[in-house]
Amino acid sequence: MEKINILKNNKCLKLICGAGNENTNEIEKLSYIYSMAGFNMIDISAKKEALIAVKKGLERANKQNEVLICVSVGMQDDIHLSKAVINKQKCDNCKICINECLQDAIFIEDERVHINEKNCIGCNKCIEKCPKCAIITEHKYKTPYEMLLPLISENIDCVEFHCTSSDEKAVLDAYNKIKSIYKGLISFCLDRSKMGDDKLICLLKKMTDSEEFSIIQADGKPMSGGKDNYNSTLQSVAFAQIIRNSQLHSYLILSGGTNSQTTKLAKECDINIDGVALGSYARKLVKDYICSDDFFENEELQRLAVNKATELANTLKENF
Ligand code: SF4
Ligand code: SF4
Repeated sequence: MEKINILKNNKCLKLICGAGNENTNEIEKLSYIYSMAGFNMIDISAKKEALIAVKKGLERANKQNEVLICVSVGMQDDIHLSKAVINKQKCDNCKICINECLQDAIFIEDERVHINEKNCIGCNKCIEKCPKCAIITEHKYKTPYEMLLPLISENIDCVEFHCTSSDEKAVLDAYNKIKSIYKGLISFCLDRSKMGDDKLICLLKKMTDSEEFSIIQADGKPMSGGKDNYNSTLQSVAFAQIIRNSQLHSYLILSGGTNSQTTKLAKECDINIDGVALGSYARKLVKDYICSDDFFENEELQRLAVNKATELANTLKENF
């Protein structure tokens, strides 16, 4: 069976490990837990190490043929690919930022606060709380083409193109460069922060019309998940309605601020969706289990983590 049929025949439950997440240990554990719980798509950064880690997690769960692996690339001004950096001149070492980071990317060494770049996903939570404005985001940017090229021979199931940008021409150029080396499934992930609705839909039409089967991922507030309420997921559902009303021929997935309430809100708003992608909320749910170094030796920890993830999957499925 072609792997793409996993989506054609089922609603999509997607785990977002994070476009900038290079913590392979976490990626392997998350892939294991959420594939065991019935998630059928996993998103990772465009790095060989991340690809190896997700494959290991799926092998442990024996779900290699039931889960699509999606590799994320993006435009220069898309926040998913940024990393936090501390300005040491401004930082007074108050340590407030440490507790804000769900990725455990901020740590103390030699009595100073530092950021582990591999763990940082650029969510901006630390930046918003720093009283000294000492944290900025930095892009060590490669184009989508450059990111994808080393992975083309690896049998990727899907490319997630983060295409939130104010520059339509740059997005289309980047899309055409992706298409010059990759012919498979593309998931277009974007939010409304950089373009008005009309321009966004026009851009999506140009890209999705040439695809036989594609995904649009309606990103509400990227990486804002964590709270399990309607407010967090509202923008994603609102954007999904705009996409549905525009009759685009694509599979529609919700993301950005998504949580266990997302499919319920979409249903109450009478918006027909094909899936939901969860990042921060899903990672936070199992954080206490996966921080243990002996996770894969400890069956009880694995059972508890998979149970948590399965509860989430079941809640989401109830409203599909
Ligand atoms: S919150 Fe800001 S000032 Fe305080 S330790 Fe973190 S970076 Fe430094
Ligand atoms: S809070 Fe977000 S942006 Fe800040 S270090 Fe953690 S992951 Fe990176």
